[in-house]
Amino acid sequence: MQRYFVDQKNVAPDRQEIIIVGDDVAHITKVMRSTVGTRFICCDEQGSCYVCKVEGMEKDKVICRMEEQLLESRELPIKITIAQGLPKGDKMEMVIQKGTELGAHVFVPFTSSRTVVQLDAKKEQKRVERWSKIAKEAAEQSHRQFVPSIQPLHSWKQLLNLAKEYDVALLAYENEQAGTLHEAFGRLQAGSRVLLAIGPEGGFSELEVREAMEYGFLSVSLGKRILRTETAALYGLSCISYYYEQLGGR
Ligand code: SAM
Repeated sequence: MQRYFVDQKNVAPDRQEIIIVGDDVAHITKVMRSTVGTRFICCDEQGSCYVCKVEGMEKDKVICRMEEQLLESRELPIKITIAQGLPKGDKMEMVIQKGTELGAHVFVPFTSSRTVVQLDAKKEQKRVERWSKIAKEAAEQSHRQFVPSIQPLHSWKQLLNLAKEYDVALLAYENEQAGTLHEAFGRLQAGSRVLLAIGPEGGFSELEVREAMEYGFLSVSLGKRILRTETAALYGLSCISYYYEQLGGR
């Protein structure tokens, strides 16, 4: 069933009513050609999802009646933030689209010493808007309960300072010989917040790796092969899903 994410302010559980506004109105009316009586799923910002029936349509809003709350759990038990070294071209779009399907909670694009791409403030704002739209569409397609948030572009220093806000901060480092994801997962409980930092195409410098350790990051290997930057986050997310959802966190 088609799924839409709605702002909390447009959800009125006491009246069993949800109002859909914005771009989704055109999607409902013009793309899906929905009419009064059509059912779809609406999810609010708390992750509560409801089967809803269209009751009324106006030019700029669709009025829906909540019929049933879905008691499904689609989210990873670990809240994972992917800090992605800004890659070239449209690779960030792929990381966000596939990373959303795989369950990422937040994306933090960052620049570091080997970042090639330069974005001015205007371009950055446009990119973040586009990435947010990609995350929303991927969350709808993959039946997520939440749309991952896309944070503004962080500097290396800002990324280092983020580590203290997490239960575990991991730095994926291709020269790491000892630290494994498995070992890091052993430190986590359901609900833990994890930051996983992936370097850009040129990787992290040795100085950056040392700095990251000083700020509390743990260096981890993602296996014996060197992954492209856009593959690394998806590997990490897949491992988390396998460990917690397939193996039950063992
Ligand atoms: N320039 C580096 C080289 O040639 O060895 C490779 C950098 S890699 C393309 C980009 C990023 O992906 C790295 O900074 C790291 O965060 C991550 N990565 C790729 N393969 C990895 C691995 N086997 N273990 C840990 N991290 C890896």
